[in-house]
Amino acid sequence: MFFSQIQGLDEIKEQLVASVENQHVAHAQLFAGGEGGGALALALAFANYINCENKQGGNACGECAVCQKTKKHIHPDYHFIFPTYTKTKKEASNKEEQKSQFLSDWRVFLNKNPYPSLSAWADFSKADNRQCNISIEESRRIIKDVSMKAFEAEYKVFFMWLPEYMNEAASNALLKVLEEPPHKTLFFLVTQSLEQVLPTILSRTQIVNVRPFTEYEVQNILINQFYTEAPKARNLALWADGNVEKALSLGKEKENDSFLAFKNWMRHAFMGDFTNLVKFSDEYQKLSKVAQKSLLTYAENVIRELLLFHHGASNLLRMPEEERTFLEGFAKAVKPEHLEDMYAVFEEALIHIERNINAKMISLDVGLQMVKLFRKK
Ligand SMILES: [Zn+2]
Repeated sequence: MFFSQIQGLDEIKEQLVASVENQHVAHAQLFAGGEGGGALALALAFANYINCENKQGGNACGECAVCQKTKKHIHPDYHFIFPTYTKTKKEASNKEEQKSQFLSDWRVFLNKNPYPSLSAWADFSKADNRQCNISIEESRRIIKDVSMKAFEAEYKVFFMWLPEYMNEAASNALLKVLEEPPHKTLFFLVTQSLEQVLPTILSRTQIVNVRPFTEYEVQNILINQFYTEAPKARNLALWADGNVEKALSLGKEKENDSFLAFKNWMRHAFMGDFTNLVKFSDEYQKLSKVAQKSLLTYAENVIRELLLFHHGASNLLRMPEEERTFLEGFAKAVKPEHLEDMYAVFEEALIHIERNINAKMISLDVGLQMVKLFRKK
């Protein structure tokens, strides 16, 4: 991972680069940022920057021996610690095999998305419902690895993703090396929940606060790193709260053409077109439950936006043009005082979908109530 591969967060990159220039790199740092944010990617890029043999202009060269290996997360001096679960005998015959399976999964996982969430990792590593954590054995292994000299890089680096999933015994085992690590050894911890990190760890690390990605940054990440088409990327970024993982999973719901579906639905209701409302309900029933819920949630978001719009505090102006035009029309078609009633209709429908009430009936009922609300004086 290189700084140049991370969209945005420039002010934090500069701060990190400056710490190298001033020779003020703390040996134990805790990168703190929310789920789906840039904290892990920054920690990886920072280590790479420190170790790069030919750094230039605030960036690693991308070509030297260190860069070549860190690109694939296979540098022998980089150690990864992350939450895992205990595999069955059938999955892995012994601890060593288990460890190597997790590590090779982890490398593939990181290559796919350096802005991960724990649930994405649990899915990817096939945890099913098994609890993931960082065990005391893991801490003991770190202590063993710490005592060995670096092979190739100037600095040996230990990356720990989500220290909040380490219990007290596991963290106590580490306190001494965190406090006094051997020469040329770095510990980069990455948390998604600073308040859950044990105080003993907090007091031994220097915190690097990583703000969430802006909407624009998420949009660029989706376009440049995940090859999402620009209009879709813009739209996903709008709902992602700076969380790349969330944007990706929203995008994965293939049926998530919520905007188009919602637009048609509301048009039929506005026109009082009952034939098409019935047809719409037939289609709605065929969607997966996730997609059914996602359309209703989208509708709720829209109504919330319109409420904000009437109070002069809206995101509307930042929406893709097609969507904005439709929503402005929508805003004119309904009286502000009826928006809350509309919201309640969608809220109730969501509850009914949860309770497995017939989706066709629910959506037809929503349609009819919308007809009434559009006509209400
Ligand atoms: Zn390099």
